[in-house]
Amino acid sequence: MANVTLKNVYKRFGDVVAVRDQSLEIRDKEFLVLVGPSGCGKSTTLRMIAGLEEISEGIIEIGDEVVNDVAPKDRDIAMVFQNYALYPHMDVYDNMAFGLKLRKFPKKEIERRVQEAADILGIEQLLKRKPKELSGGQRQRVALGRAIVREPKVFLMDEPLSNLDAKLRVQMRTELSKLHDRLKTTMIYVTHDQTEAMTMGDRIVVLKDGLIQQVDDPLTLYNEPNNIFVAGFIGSPAMNFMDAVIKKEGDTYYIDGDGTFKIRVPEDKENLIKDYVDKDVVFGVRPEDIIDTSITHDFDVSEDNSFKAAVDVVEPMGSEIYLYLAEQGHSLIARVEAESTAEVGDKMNLAVDLRKIHVFDAETEDVIF
Ligand code: ATP
Repeated sequence: MANVTLKNVYKRFGDVVAVRDQSLEIRDKEFLVLVGPSGCGKSTTLRMIAGLEEISEGIIEIGDEVVNDVAPKDRDIAMVFQNYALYPHMDVYDNMAFGLKLRKFPKKEIERRVQEAADILGIEQLLKRKPKELSGGQRQRVALGRAIVREPKVFLMDEPLSNLDAKLRVQMRTELSKLHDRLKTTMIYVTHDQTEAMTMGDRIVVLKDGLIQQVDDPLTLYNEPNNIFVAGFIGSPAMNFMDAVIKKEGDTYYIDGDGTFKIRVPEDKENLIKDYVDKDVVFGVRPEDIIDTSITHDFDVSEDNSFKAAVDVVEPMGSEIYLYLAEQGHSLIARVEAESTAEVGDKMNLAVDLRKIHVFDAETEDVIF
């Protein structure tokens, strides 16, 4: 079994706390992605699992073994980095075989493993080439090959695609996912790119300032973010946030944007919001959940779910249109259908799907619903 467990793990560099109280269970054969902005502690977490960085506090287990004091080479893991540093004077075969030769594997076994990895990665025809005769994508495959031949229990990958151009990165993403399906090994993957995380991860860990914000599968993370940070980090263009206050009129609760919008709290959410009357909240809605009411929809527009805003910029994307809207100091983005005829300066009537809205506590930034 190649599950990896972190129990209350801390990493301090002098006064800097790079990782705080991380507890995490990475399941056997899972593709787990660590994502977050620069400096949030992703690489440090990965390096502690690899044994390249000592743990200040806590426990790390691989399988059922505590590895805190196990040397990196004895952890049965293989790591792939952003700069894959192939040996320039060796051909592809020797680059891949090198680690096994050092470990005194029999020649036949080395041959078998290199051939098999080359076959999986589609680089059989490159085995005699030197790194300088390879493209960036091919070099990255060789770096992966070097890890695959080790047949490790766990793969650790630190931004392995970030040196590739955009198109190749998209292609390699799919290849890595297929590779994971084929190898059926635990993979822990670090990236700062939320799209990469969303497309590749079985589950995603969102980190900020060394703290885990949320661990979930991609759709749950997208639809049910724990707090403003996760809501804003996952999704592109990002979720719109607007300051508001909860108001109660009769038996009805509203999210009141001080004259700009007044959206009714759905009935099934009233019990969650009832303690927030007259308190500051942050209203969140994703750009794709804003509806251009001038286009016919199977959607009931009413005063309770609509608001007006002026169009600042129209950005046609082909399949859809991004509208940059402004209203009394609030600015927001809507992703509407390509049929929208909105023009700069128009005052539009927009609606939101009440099942898709979010409200956050303005003080703690945690989600209310
Ligand atoms: P990036 O995406 O920029 O690589 P990251 O999320 O991987 O960032 P880490 O490299 O893990 O972040 O760094 C986390 C924090 O620890 C940062 O504040 C960083 O400056 C600090 N840090 C990392 N390594 C060291 C070190 N060897 N000495 C001192 N501080 C360090």
